[in-house]
Amino acid sequence: STQTARHPQRLTVVGLGYLGATHAICMAKLGHRVVGVDVDPDKVAALRSGVLPFHEPGLQEHLDEMLATGRIAFTADLARAADFADTHFVCVGTPQKDGTNAADLGFVEAAVDALASRIERRALIVGKSTVPVGTARRLAERVAAQSRPGADIEVAWNPEFLREGFAVEDTLCPDRLVFGVDSDWALDRLIDVFDPVLGAGTPVIVSDLATAELVKVAANAFLATKISFINAVAEVCEATGADVGQLADALGRDPRIGSRFLKPGLGFGGGCLPKDIRAFAHRAEELGVGRAVAFLHEMDEINQRRRERMVDVVREFAGGDLAGTRVAALGAAFKPDSDDVRDAPALEVARMLSMEGAEVRVYDPAAAENAHRTYPDLDYAASLDEATRGADVVALLTEWPEFVDADPAELARNVRQRRVVDGRRVLDAERYVNAGWEYRALGQAESL
Ligand code: NAD
Repeated sequence: STQTARHPQRLTVVGLGYLGATHAICMAKLGHRVVGVDVDPDKVAALRSGVLPFHEPGLQEHLDEMLATGRIAFTADLARAADFADTHFVCVGTPQKDGTNAADLGFVEAAVDALASRIERRALIVGKSTVPVGTARRLAERVAAQSRPGADIEVAWNPEFLREGFAVEDTLCPDRLVFGVDSDWALDRLIDVFDPVLGAGTPVIVSDLATAELVKVAANAFLATKISFINAVAEVCEATGADVGQLADALGRDPRIGSRFLKPGLGFGGGCLPKDIRAFAHRAEELGVGRAVAFLHEMDEINQRRRERMVDVVREFAGGDLAGTRVAALGAAFKPDSDDVRDAPALEVARMLSMEGAEVRVYDPAAAENAHRTYPDLDYAASLDEATRGADVVALLTEWPEFVDADPAELARNVRQRRVVDGRRVLDAERYVNAGWEYRALGQAESL
């Protein structure tokens, strides 16, 4: 059971996507009164009627509970929100800008402008979105330039580290909190907001604005590098016949290296890592230190190559030509326990296979709707059974438990040819081989 704040606050949360909706609901859970705002009226209507606009384990129960307490409300009316509270969290998107590696700050600027043009008292705007270093300072100047009489608005940055699939846990019990602030006043407000989280012993790093912004991008750059590093080694393993699985296991047992995120496979995707490393490299170039993080371009390329490699392996299984090959594509989400298909390796591989003439049937336990919206021309199955029926190759693309736990003997009865490519290296190879399958894992030179 979560403790509640000693001094409950009134808060607004602007932007109700994966981050914002989670943050709003969890803030209410901490005892605060929260108004969540989004420009998307459908999202607001859904949340109001108790429907989460995305898949996130455990969040639904908290939404139900918080709506019942009356501590949370949702609106598309920013004027109402600006009046409601003195502390406003900004959680809008910062996607990659079309045609560049830069982050698109248009949504953040619009959200901050909308607040600044309405606030008429002392208030704190807390950015949680992931932004290029220097953004918070620039926003503070922007806000000062358009403040209304009586307003005194400060900007702080509190970067968010939550993982989709573990969003509630990561918000209520984070590894650490980072407060980028310009004043003790701002710090005191943040301490009041996160009081129960801090009370549970969560370490807090209090920094300037630039450091807070950079912690987040540096964390994502490190994680991306760790994944791409082991995938670079996987490429070498594929060329020599060495086993990258055993290698990663042996490497990971060195506590200086650690086994987490050292998983060879199809690589990373999603709405954060890919665009964040690109935006980081771009920002460093703007600052004249592009050389320092130029390796991030290489990490990005290693990561993209895994998707091509996956297609290569399926093609090899198909005898060199994908035309007419029936492929069961298991997974569309960028990772299990999420319905997020932004820059998802799974969906991208399905699309690439289909472009080469394969008859691809995609199945994902949660992301089908989003996948369909992204690539309406792909064929979507309603179940694992339907996806694998008559398949020539089964491609495991997202490591959903449903796929990991599937019985290879049962699947064998369903397919036309028993060939499986394990893009995430999560299937029990021996069980598949025993059930008569040709099993091939990404990062492995030969089939078993
Ligand atoms: P998202 O696209 O799911 O949500 C963004 C929301 O903002 C949308 O609902 C959109 O309608 C709304 N919005 C846009 N402009 C608005 C405005 N002017 N006023 C009100 N609402 C507006 O994005 P997300 O995944 O929640 O990510 C948001 C930010 O958080 C990004 O900067 C991202 O990098 C960062 N982040 C995300 C995660 C994650 O796991 N998704 C984790 C950490 C940080």
